Amino acid sequence: MAKNSYDAIVIGTGQAGPSLAGRLTSAGMKVAVIERGKFGGTCVNTGCIPTKAMVASARAAHVARRAAEFGVDIAGPVKVDMRRVKARRDAISGKSSSGVESGLKGMKNCAVYETHARFESAREVSAGSDILTAERIFINVGGRAAIPDIPGLDRVGYLTNSSMMRVDFLPRHLIVLGGSYIGLEFGQMFRRFGSEVTIIEKGSRLIFREDEDVSASVREILEAEGVDIRLNSRCTGVDKSGEGSIRVMIETEGRTSEIDGSHLLLAIGRHPNTADLGLDKAGIGTDSHGYIVVDDQLRTSVPGVWALGDCNGKGAFTHTSYNDFEIVAANLLDSDPRRVSDRIEAYALYIDPPLGRAGMTETQVRASGRKALMGIRPMTKVGRAVEKGETQGFMKVLVDAETKKILGAAILGTGGDEAIHSILDVMYTKSPYTVIQRAMHIHPTVSELIPTLLGELKPLQDDTISSHPLR
Ligand SMILES: Cc1cc2nc3c(=O)[nH]c(=O)nc-3n(C[C@H](O)[C@H](O)[C@H](O)COP(=O)(O)OP(=O)(O)OC[C@H]3O[C@@H](n4cnc5c(N)ncnc54)[C@H](O)[C@@H]3O)c2cc1C
Repeated sequence: MAKNSYDAIVIGTGQAGPSLAGRLTSAGMKVAVIERGKFGGTCVNTGCIPTKAMVASARAAHVARRAAEFGVDIAGPVKVDMRRVKARRDAISGKSSSGVESGLKGMKNCAVYETHARFESAREVSAGSDILTAERIFINVGGRAAIPDIPGLDRVGYLTNSSMMRVDFLPRHLIVLGGSYIGLEFGQMFRRFGSEVTIIEKGSRLIFREDEDVSASVREILEAEGVDIRLNSRCTGVDKSGEGSIRVMIETEGRTSEIDGSHLLLAIGRHPNTADLGLDKAGIGTDSHGYIVVDDQLRTSVPGVWALGDCNGKGAFTHTSYNDFEIVAANLLDSDPRRVSDRIEAYALYIDPPLGRAGMTETQVRASGRKALMGIRPMTKVGRAVEKGETQGFMKVLVDAETKKILGAAILGTGGDEAIHSILDVMYTKSPYTVIQRAMHIHPTVSELIPTLLGELKPLQDDTISSHPLR
């Protein structure tokens, strides 16, 4: 067994590890990077990049079906060739993955091990038949789809976001377990490809962490396209129901029923990849869900060991993982004490139209008890959306009545994933919302209506979210 000594070891090549390896080697360190799967991790291979490539194919089919509304004739029905959808997606994903791989393998002072990594002690990591030692170890092992304990699941074949990447055919009827971000993106895209789609959600509404009005509008958008949504529904068992069919048993408010489909996608949540990492041998602490416990600068309970990305439970996005890299690099190499608590929560849901989110929800603002102002505007009153024929959704912004600082915003509508940044960036500067109103905005855009929205702020009343005039 060879014993190799490094200045630093990076476990996993997700969204933080490769960039960190780059900074560490540039600073003169000898670095080992260990990856057991495809280079680039979830985002590149089974997450953001491939799904957004598929969302784009699904949107093309959707727009083609609506072509006549725009005065465009398409001869015959719109057909989707799933093999070509997959080939396009694989080409985009593959390029990103091989870019990460070649970047690391060509990196000076960086040794790449393609195997499973496991802690042997706080300073030793086994990588296949090698033992690597270093004074600094960075964990970037990410997560995977959670598999629920449902009777019969072991007897039927099921899909996760990973195995979904092998699908090069059109499922006749896709049943999606879980009405949150991943389930909704896959659900809408396969509906647009031509599958029948049923989404089963045990909560009383979709995407439970969002405000009720956002959940309700997202539901309307999906139902308008023919997605069957079953809320308050608990999956009690699954079984085979004939050749190529799956039967899903559900209980909805005390009533039982069955849904027959051709494929089942599990999208009920994620688990960190920490159980097979030998963390106990190093004395690295985890919480009850297996997430590695870290402080505000991403240090674990063991000095000299950091955890970045989804495995630390402080974020579940590519940008949070990358931000983790920036925080660790700033602290270690730039004498800049950046902290996780300094970032503002922000993310998007990539159904079409997308939801862009920043900061607090209305529910959180109400719960905080502070005096607040709110502006809300349907996309039917956004010129750009009208011109594009995409008027679903709305935008809302919440402001602290005393400091005039923006507390949070949601833009559900065309371009919402981009337009939200004009709010996010001002939030980060801690400037009052009136700054946005002084900037000249470009016409016609979704963003140009943000100053208008801010000019229509009203005190947050004691009414409930569902009684907004929008609804
Ligand atoms: C379907 C889907 C869609 C998504 N869409 C978005 C989106 O649109 N926007 C967004 O911001 N986020 C999205 N996400 C989330 C995003 O993909 C992750 O948050 C992101 O990839 C961050 O991951 P990470 O850096 O923590 O590690 P990961 O990217 O998960 O990488 C971890 C790496 O570590 C390796 N590894 C694990 N254990 C070991 C070990 N013991 N030894 C060696 N190597 C190991 C793995 O093989 C993997 O390559 C999506 C996720 C999914 C599943």
